[in-house]
Amino acid sequence: MSTRVGTVVIGAGPMGASAARHLAGMPDAGSVMVIGPDAPVSTHAHAGVHGAWHDEARLTRIIANDHVWATLAAESIARYPQIEAAGGIPFHRTQGVLYVHEAAESFALQHQVATDLSVEFDDISAEPHRVPFLRLTDGAGLLLEGGGAGTVNPKALVANQLRGAERLGAAVLRHTAIAIDETSSGVVVRTREGATVEADRVLVAAGAYLNSFPFFPSPLPVVSTGITALFYEVAGDVAAALQGMPGILWYPPAGGSHFLYSVPPTQYPDGKVYFKIGGYRESGPLLHEADITEWHRTDGGRMEVEMLKAFVAEHIPVLAGHDAHAIGCVITDTDSAMPMLREVVPGRISVATGCAGAAAKSCDEIGRLAALVATGAKWDSSLPKTVFHG
Ligand SMILES: Cc1cc2nc3c(=O)[nH]c(=O)nc-3n(C[C@H](O)[C@H](O)[C@H](O)COP(=O)(O)OP(=O)(O)OC[C@H]3O[C@@H](n4cnc5c(N)ncnc54)[C@H](O)[C@@H]3O)c2cc1C
Repeated sequence: MSTRVGTVVIGAGPMGASAARHLAGMPDAGSVMVIGPDAPVSTHAHAGVHGAWHDEARLTRIIANDHVWATLAAESIARYPQIEAAGGIPFHRTQGVLYVHEAAESFALQHQVATDLSVEFDDISAEPHRVPFLRLTDGAGLLLEGGGAGTVNPKALVANQLRGAERLGAAVLRHTAIAIDETSSGVVVRTREGATVEADRVLVAAGAYLNSFPFFPSPLPVVSTGITALFYEVAGDVAAALQGMPGILWYPPAGGSHFLYSVPPTQYPDGKVYFKIGGYRESGPLLHEADITEWHRTDGGRMEVEMLKAFVAEHIPVLAGHDAHAIGCVITDTDSAMPMLREVVPGRISVATGCAGAAAKSCDEIGRLAALVATGAKWDSSLPKTVFHG
């Protein structure tokens, strides 16, 4: 198969799918093709490339430690109804998100960001009885974000973005890209399955696999790290005890480096409901395609599982001693801790990556900005373009 398009997007995950929906509506982009596999039915059994979105829930919230991430989230959440209308699949639940702070400094910082951006939130530090399922440190600072805060289903979000792109004329090719070659008139993308796609330009949004294929003249400065998520089945008395639980971000005491997240009970394809927690990063960088794929097929890190179980036993007593299972997943970071949206070969090859463990919720705005970078269209964000150089 050989074909010619205006813009090809490598990666049909949150960033690639979102960028594609925006590109498909931009005259400068020409015709659009997205190349990337769908989420596998079973992560353990999947030998191909994986995405950080192969799950049923991701927290969504505006409050962050800085105005950049907060703005990206606010812009994206405001467009959730539009995204849902584009694909027709409900993906957003508003259970709220609670920020638990043991250190006064981190509490004050987030309080300030929330106030500056007029986020809908309550300071419930003096009312811990409002979260009766938690055992908290005395004096913990508690911010409860309302409005659109809660969870998104990343699979449904991605499906909506792709359907929206297809309705605007984009094509989706369920292949894995293995190389990009420059030509006098643009680029040629080759896939493992044997397709050749010529294009004026390519946007690479391959998540953790960004540097695993010969896409760029030299590897980009991003780091992919194996992490672990732990799942507790929630039923019967436990379900009753966790009724009304919001998403939670657990900030460490002063000097601590790990902050944990937990996702409220969510229904999974096996018909069961699970509470999920994760956030420790003990598993080191993953550099090669085989290592990234292999980590996704593990049950996570043993030490991380033990640390997470100990944390749960201390802070969510109703789950103490219950069985739990873990999975390995991967997140990708930049030095600046901001998404990297930049041209690698001017006018030809650009990249959208480094979306940390925090960008599923904000993929629509990040994808929109990536579309501007890819096509050279006018930058219209209130955030400076230079923030996203990586
Ligand atoms: C355990 C965990 C918890 C998280 N929690 C949250 C949260 O609560 N809230 C939040 O907002 N975010 C969260 N995130 C982060 C969020 O999921 C990521 O920021 C987001 O998925 C990044 O999107 P992406 O498209 O950049 O990369 P990915 O999600 O990794 O998607 C990349 C896509 O590229 C494809 N691909 C790779 N290589 C190729 C290739 N060669 N050819 C074609 N396609 C290719 C993959 O199949 C994949 O579909 C979490 C992530 C993890 C792992």
